[in-house]
Amino acid sequence: MNILIFGPNGSGKGTQGSLAKKKYDLDHIESGAIFRKHIGGGTELGKKAKEYIDRGELVPDDITIPMVLDVLKNSSPNGWLLDGFPRSIVQAQKLWEALQADGVKLNFVIEILLPREVAKNRIMGRRLCKNDNNHPNNIFIDAIKPDGDKCRVCGGELSARADDQDEGAIDKRHDIYYDTTTGTLAASYYYKNLAKDAGFKYIELDGEGSIDDIRATLMAQLD
Ligand code: AMP
Repeated sequence: MNILIFGPNGSGKGTQGSLAKKKYDLDHIESGAIFRKHIGGGTELGKKAKEYIDRGELVPDDITIPMVLDVLKNSSPNGWLLDGFPRSIVQAQKLWEALQADGVKLNFVIEILLPREVAKNRIMGRRLCKNDNNHPNNIFIDAIKPDGDKCRVCGGELSARADDQDEGAIDKRHDIYYDTTTGTLAASYYYKNLAKDAGFKYIELDGEGSIDDIRATLMAQLD
C-alpha cells in the first residue's frame, strides 16, 4: 500500500497521516524529517539543506529528489506514506516517472484542504514532543491542547520548531504550497488529474473539520 499525502503546514497532515500509516503498517517517509535527521547528524547533505530550510525555501531538487527516491526504494515491503514530497510540479513528475520505471503502484493520494490564514494560526501554535513527532499538540486547537507545557499524549517535553515561529518563513512556505502553477498544489492537482486513468483514488478532506470527523472520513475512504 503506497500513499501520498498533501496538505499545507498546519493542516493536520501529520496527525491524519499517522493514522493511515498505523492502519496499514506503512513506513512514514517525511522529507522534512529526513532533512532534520541529516542536520542533527551533521552530514554534508544536512549542512547544505539547512540554509534553505532556515529561510523557509525549498531545498534544491538535485539534493531532495535523489534523497527521497532512495529512501522510498529502501522502504518496508508493506509500503509507504510519503509526506512533504512532492512539493513542486517538477518533483511530482519525477516521482511519477520513478514509480512507473520501478513498477510501483500508487494506491491513494490524500489532499487536506485548508484556507491559508487558518493554516498559519495553527502552525504558530504547534508544539513538538521530544518522544514522538506524531504526538499532536497545539496551543491554539482545543482538541489537542498540551497538558500545561507537557505532551498531552505521553507527558514528554515540548518544544516549538524555530521555523514555526517565524511569520516570514511561514508565509514563504505557504507561497510555495498554495502555488497552483508550479508549487505544491500544482503537484497535488497533477496527481488528481492522473488518478482515474492511473487507477488510484484521490481523496479530498476538509481540514477545518474536527480531527475525529476527518479521521472518520479518511478511514471510510481507505477501506
Ligand atoms: P516540513 O517539515 O515538511 O515543513 O519541511 C521542512 C523544510 O524542509 C521545508 O521548509 C523545506 O525547506 C525542506 N523540505 C521538505 N520537503 C521538501 C521537498 N519535497 N522539497 C524541497 N524542500 C523540502
